[in-house]
Amino acid sequence: MWGIIATWRMAKEGVKEGCALLKEGKAAGDVIETAIRRVEDTPYYQSVGYGGLPNEESEVELDAAYMDGDTWSVGAVAALRDYANPVSIAKRLSEEKVNIVLVGEGAEKFAHKEGFERKNMLTAQAKAKYQKRVEGLKTEAGQPYSGHDTVGMVCLDTRGKMTSATSTSGLFMKRKGRVGDSPLIGSGFYVDSQYGGASATGLGEDLMKGCISYEIVRLMREGMSPQGACERAVNQLDQELRRRRMEAGDLSVIAMNQKGEWGAATNIKEFTIVVGTEAEEPAVYQVIRQPDGHCQLEKATSEWVENDEQKEKVAAGV
Ligand code: ASP
Repeated sequence: MWGIIATWRMAKEGVKEGCALLKEGKAAGDVIETAIRRVEDTPYYQSVGYGGLPNEESEVELDAAYMDGDTWSVGAVAALRDYANPVSIAKRLSEEKVNIVLVGEGAEKFAHKEGFERKNMLTAQAKAKYQKRVEGLKTEAGQPYSGHDTVGMVCLDTRGKMTSATSTSGLFMKRKGRVGDSPLIGSGFYVDSQYGGASATGLGEDLMKGCISYEIVRLMREGMSPQGACERAVNQLDQELRRRRMEAGDLSVIAMNQKGEWGAATNIKEFTIVVGTEAEEPAVYQVIRQPDGHCQLEKATSEWVENDEQKEKVAAGV
């Protein structure tokens, strides 16, 4: 069995390409990198890679990570500027024994030394969006941080190897140097080829409080299904946050186990995922939270997907 699952509809093309590669017998490490790069390279996906949303100083600072579920090799970059494919830099770092998580200038220095492609990641559209938000914040009691999303994936190849990876520009208008959950092991991503992997998207500051991706893998290790583990982890963290802090931010997760079974859950109204396996053609699903805390997964119609994509392009100004 092979398979790949990803957060958000924006991963559609990447997952499709990933499935084709897995079918050919390609390794989960290369496949997940290719699939995430596809999202990073698309300018109208506003919260990942090129065209990503800037911080409060109008700079695009990117977070990304990669984990190998066989060896537990991990690499991550945070607050990285001016490089085209953060996920590839994270994957390269995972080959190192020490210095596997690099931030800001140090990460950029490493990327330069290793010959990664330099690129100005701030598009004219993202700059215009930033200027509009700055103006808006002067007059309204606006929400500076609304507008974020991470592409997170879990991949299983024909040899049973699993990987997990993430890439994001984090919260729109975040403070310079802010790091979210996406490059933090156990929070934004985790994978163990013996059991399965998970990845998260939503408010990083809250996702990291529950080490949510590790928790999902732990629950799968105890025998829970990916769907059961995702729902349990989201609902428990949501409840704990509300009990302790009166509120919980957006928490959305995906998971796949060693058998290629998968699941997703959220505490918000609308969350989308993309998944394809040896048994199922790649498809977009809407994850719909029910009043009892369970999530219903519905395959999105092609009309819905087109419409959603169109909305995204309009929002991105293309
Ligand atoms: N979790 C990301 C962050 O906090 C953003 C997101 O996935 O929506 O940086």
